[in-house]
Amino acid sequence: MNQYKNHTCAICGKTYYACSSCENIRSFQPWRTITDTRACYKIFLILNGCNKGYIHNADAQKQLKNCDLSQLHTFVPHIREAIQKIFEKEETDYDKKDSRLF
Ligand SMILES: [Zn+2]
Repeated sequence: MNQYKNHTCAICGKTYYACSSCENIRSFQPWRTITDTRACYKIFLILNGCNKGYIHNADAQKQLKNCDLSQLHTFVPHIREAIQKIFEKEETDYDKKDSRLF
């Protein structure tokens, strides 16, 4: 076994192995170069979208509730803070209007 752990998950901070040469192959699942699991990648996409303004804070909250956050305390500190910030943020008037649909 020479599969050393050469990547660190951008979300949970765990180290894992992913083939470096695979990073250049398009057909290879690109999330493997960013996070160790699909669950972590889902969180990554939500935070990224929220950061760039693609995802509304209220939507990010809803989406994060569907993610496994049971290991939140072990996540990378700035990721943990970003998630906590999303949950702390008050809904804006726009969000409130929007959430009546649900
Ligand atoms: Zn992870």
